[in-house]
Amino acid sequence: MKVPHIISLSLLVLFHACDSVVKQVPKKETIESLPQEAPKPKLLFGLTVDSSGVIVGKIKRNQTLSAILQNFGVSDAKIYAIAQTSKNIYDLRKLNIGKKYSIIHKMDSNKTVDYFIFEPDLKSFVVFSLGDSIYTRVYRKKIDVIERSIAAEIHSSLYETAIDIGAPPLLVSKLVDVLAWQVDFFRIQEGDKFKVIYEEESIEGKPIGIKQIKGVYFEHFDKIFYGIRYSVDQKEDYFDRDGNSLRKTFLRAPLNYRRISSRYSGRRYHPVQKRYKAHLGTDYAAATGTPIHSVGEGVVVEAKYGRYNGNYVKIKHSSTYSTQYLHMQKIKRGIRPGVQVEQGQTIGFVGSTGLATGPHLCFRFWKNNKQVDVLKVDLPPSDPINPKALNDFLHEKNRVIKKLEQLSFIVPQA
Ligand SMILES: [Zn+2]
Repeated sequence: MKVPHIISLSLLVLFHACDSVVKQVPKKETIESLPQEAPKPKLLFGLTVDSSGVIVGKIKRNQTLSAILQNFGVSDAKIYAIAQTSKNIYDLRKLNIGKKYSIIHKMDSNKTVDYFIFEPDLKSFVVFSLGDSIYTRVYRKKIDVIERSIAAEIHSSLYETAIDIGAPPLLVSKLVDVLAWQVDFFRIQEGDKFKVIYEEESIEGKPIGIKQIKGVYFEHFDKIFYGIRYSVDQKEDYFDRDGNSLRKTFLRAPLNYRRISSRYSGRRYHPVQKRYKAHLGTDYAAATGTPIHSVGEGVVVEAKYGRYNGNYVKIKHSSTYSTQYLHMQKIKRGIRPGVQVEQGQTIGFVGSTGLATGPHLCFRFWKNNKQVDVLKVDLPPSDPINPKALNDFLHEKNRVIKKLEQLSFIVPQA
């Protein structure tokens, strides 16, 4: 593997990098290798287990709680009772295959079960108490939030560089989301640089995810982009240094329509093909000849006739977003691949070419090369910061930019 041009991997708070892990691990091992030390009362899921046995397993295919408990000798009466207490608290059908469970039992000859604990996800656990009192309780684990940062010069791809410096893969997709409108991530080149300040969530010292990115710096060709997270009216968004939203908004709809005649759906009855199939678009019923507008600025990538789509146009708005307009009566003159279009520009006219029963526009919305429901996709308005909140934003912006600036670029010796 190529040595990455790591510029800096600076840590604002404790452990993450190799050296801090090295500092932490021996401590644990020291404790474990000193069995003569008087053991402290052991706590597991908040339960004292120093005089109990613990058996850990994973849910197998089609395995039910009662089947597991029967295996461990729990009586049918108790199984019935626990099923009663779990009603409205935890759906026992959600014991998903592969998820971890722990059985805490007495150290008697029967290994009498006191608790069955199920961990449906990283953030919670469910205690089924089978001892003297029978109950079901769902607990949330304590999540710690730690601010971290990374900074690097890209040596191959953004993704590879980020992984090489130990960034979680999810951080890359979040970074791309923040700057989706500013940077064409398909045209990243060696020498582009990025810095990210983000909040990592962890449970008992184990990272479980990324809460949010707080600030981004991105150097692409000779341009510098900033993304500062700020929430206005409880809506989070990313802004540039002047308080303008980084997201460019799309038109609400690509035409003046009469009604939405078919929504995006994983499964619908196709009126022409007479069978059920996915409908990955939104149909707007409108009169033949109604002008169709591009919902945002972009570049035409397709403009042609297809057997099913009829006359259609596809527009790429950014490396993240594309839109497609089907069944046109005709494509507007001059709309062909490579042509730049403005938001609201007419690109064609409503028709029923291709596989269509009547005049309508089938509008398809693509995010990261996947079709999504335009009526549901999260596209907050790109309003600038409200003047009332501007001072507060400027304060937060200065704080984040100062931190980003402190992440200095260090080029390692080759
Ligand atoms: Zn359609």
